[in-house]
Amino acid sequence: MVEFGIHGTVWVGGWTREDAEKTIGSAARLGYDRVEIPVFDPDRFDAPHTKALLAEHRLKAGVSLGLSTDQDISSADTAVVERGAAHLRKVLDLTAAIGGDYLGGVIFCALHKYRQAVDPKGRENSVAVIREIARAARGHGIDIGLEAVNRYESNLINTGGQALRFIDAVGEDNVYVHLDSYHMNIEEGDNAGAIALCGDRLGYFHVNESHRGYLGTGNILFTPMFRALARIGFERTIAFEAFSTAVTNPVLSGMVAVWRDLWQDSDDLAAHALAYMKREMADAVRAEDIVANR
Ligand code: MN
Repeated sequence: MVEFGIHGTVWVGGWTREDAEKTIGSAARLGYDRVEIPVFDPDRFDAPHTKALLAEHRLKAGVSLGLSTDQDISSADTAVVERGAAHLRKVLDLTAAIGGDYLGGVIFCALHKYRQAVDPKGRENSVAVIREIARAARGHGIDIGLEAVNRYESNLINTGGQALRFIDAVGEDNVYVHLDSYHMNIEEGDNAGAIALCGDRLGYFHVNESHRGYLGTGNILFTPMFRALARIGFERTIAFEAFSTAVTNPVLSGMVAVWRDLWQDSDDLAAHALAYMKREMADAVRAEDIVANR
């Protein structure tokens, strides 16, 4: 069964104890299966508190982040790479400490607009660090997800195909492609084809409008993507992601260019998104069943 998740940034701009209570309580009350917890500062994250909340509300959890430029593991500078590797080790420990089963996002380079192509040595550095993190993650039952993001947020992995080639170089079977409809809308030539190409190596799917607001109010054609997910028999996480200046913290806003106030009512947005995703997925499964039995 597909699990429906939601990114914490729908409710909060950080992860204080209060933020954790609000996000986990709201996601559970609305009927989500899991939350995606954004990690900004692993040193100021109360893992036992979050773990207890997840247990209380019977929610599963994964963790996501984007590396900063001084933690860029795709750098040719080994001191920068080591800082990034140390940060990822900390975030992995934190993921294990809350009982999470997924660590993903832009963890293979900085989440940042590069002004040059990736250095070949830098790509090798990134592959080596992701391999180390993946091996350590396996012992905790944690999968690693590499999120293909648009050209303004990475110069290393912009498409599902690039993610697959990177993962081939890593060579660890708990590393998956993480696709996001918002980024696919910019970079993929064929959204359904990208999902088909990833197949059983697709580990996580972000549902995200073209302007990152309410689903169905932007330009993205979600139905062909859900049909493609049904066709590959996708049974992992489909998670809603959205950003608005009303909630998103200023640092993250700067990283992913959130300058507009597209929504204010987090609960309404989240409830609408869950109904939308469930309806699309159920319709897609039904449609693919008809195709298979015609
Ligand atoms: Mn995303």
